[in-house]
Amino acid sequence: MNPTDTMTEVFANYVGNKKTTASSNATFDDEDPSRRGSVLARFQSSSAQDITQAVDVAHDAFLRWRRTSIDDRQQMGARFVQLVREKEQELAVIVAKENGKTLREARGEVQSAVQEGTHHVYQSSRFMGHTLPSGTRGYTGWVQYHPIGVVGIISPWNYPMNVMCRKTLPALLTGNTVVFKPATFTPWSAIFMTQLFEEAGFPAGVFNCITGLGSAVGNALVDDPRVRAISFTGSTAIGKKIQERVAKNLTRTQLELGGKNALIVMNDADLNAAVDAAMTAGFACAGQWCTSTSRVLLQKEIHDKFLDLLGTRCEKMVVGDPLDEKTNMGPVAGPDQFKSISKAIDQAKSEGSRLLTGGVATGELGERGYFIRPTVFADVSPDMTAFREEIFGPVLAITKFDTFDQALQLANDSIYALSSSIYTKDIDSAHKYIDGIEAGLAHVNVHSGLKLPALPFGGWKESGFGLPENSQTGLEFFVDRKAVYIKSN
Ligand code: NAD
Repeated sequence: MNPTDTMTEVFANYVGNKKTTASSNATFDDEDPSRRGSVLARFQSSSAQDITQAVDVAHDAFLRWRRTSIDDRQQMGARFVQLVREKEQELAVIVAKENGKTLREARGEVQSAVQEGTHHVYQSSRFMGHTLPSGTRGYTGWVQYHPIGVVGIISPWNYPMNVMCRKTLPALLTGNTVVFKPATFTPWSAIFMTQLFEEAGFPAGVFNCITGLGSAVGNALVDDPRVRAISFTGSTAIGKKIQERVAKNLTRTQLELGGKNALIVMNDADLNAAVDAAMTAGFACAGQWCTSTSRVLLQKEIHDKFLDLLGTRCEKMVVGDPLDEKTNMGPVAGPDQFKSISKAIDQAKSEGSRLLTGGVATGELGERGYFIRPTVFADVSPDMTAFREEIFGPVLAITKFDTFDQALQLANDSIYALSSSIYTKDIDSAHKYIDGIEAGLAHVNVHSGLKLPALPFGGWKESGFGLPENSQTGLEFFVDRKAVYIKSN
């Protein structure tokens, strides 16, 4: 279907490169969050039975796929990445329509998937285990990597096609087969990408996509003992539930979870650059990215000036239709997000923090879609909910501090530890921050959202579990290691 058509289409699941319908025959609607009550398309509301069938097919396909050469897998992977590159605009429109991020942001998401995919394709040819120096204690030995089997991949709605690629390509390149479950807010980009896997030449059964509710489809995927690994991105609450369930089968997990990322701005910082960082990492994709900045810690002397600059910039932001190139921020992803962010805004007000700017959009915009303006709360103290809980929306919580040690203590005062950033010109403060910050990503004079595929992407504490995505570990997660010994003479 052309993403600009308005006709409502019903999309199928994909199992063994065939379109299949849910055994229940039920479907669910994909809503455009900039138009309340709209239906972009309908998708299969699948059940445990559909997952079992997909795992049957993926399990069977694994026996052949694991024997294909790395060259063949790489060629298919490279073709897939090339197809994603060619379809950038088409994919970006789908992502912007079903997720609500602006077209520019959606194109950025596609470009990020291409950049990471290219990295994984190249990296996979250098990923070959290692050998002992010959004749060590009379043995020759090496570590041999083996694919683990069928892998379940569960993704969130905020980066629907990029997260899918970041997990799926490493799984396929290392010889595993995949059953993929997209988020219910964003099934369209997943189905579109599924067709690209087929077009790139991946054989039937190697990649399968089942849409449906997390509670039905997700649980069934996690519970199936033939699924040897689950790579999940989503909330910490669901990540913990998955971790409990997999204990039964000792299924390996890679969990990329929530965050409450802090930006520290010291008195000596380049203030305009720091405000840019707060704007970009706070409000891009309406604040709905895991490495977005949600807490801003300001040193006393620059506090008021920073707030002036930030408030002015927020008020200039154009909030509206994501498909309009002039829009700076689209709606949040859907009614559930809208409800939980609105509740968090009300709670921040009632707990005594000061609303500097923003809030839920009113008037025609508010009636039309799930729009929330860039929102800033000042005077947020560490006991307040806005400081502690992930809001996952365009809301910044500002806290004042006096010394560097206080800033570090505040930044680390969280169950989350995904990303972070500091703005300072002082090299000692930068090094003390790098050493002391509890986070999987530490940025100096760069906003908290930056990531490069050659470096690991994962959180500490309740922000993540298992090997991080990207870098070498993104491939390592998907293999078993075998230590081989041969007597030397
Ligand atoms: P979510 O946890 O509600 O859902 C994520 C996925 O899990 C969806 O596909 C959902 O259908 C599925 N699911 C729901 N219940 C399930 C169950 N019982 N078993 C298995 N699967 C189930 O998260 P979300 O609202 O889609 O995404 C937002 C969250 O994702 C935020 O907390 C954000 O921080 C996090 N996130 C983290 C990263 C990261 O890399 N750390 C990246 C993006 C998003």
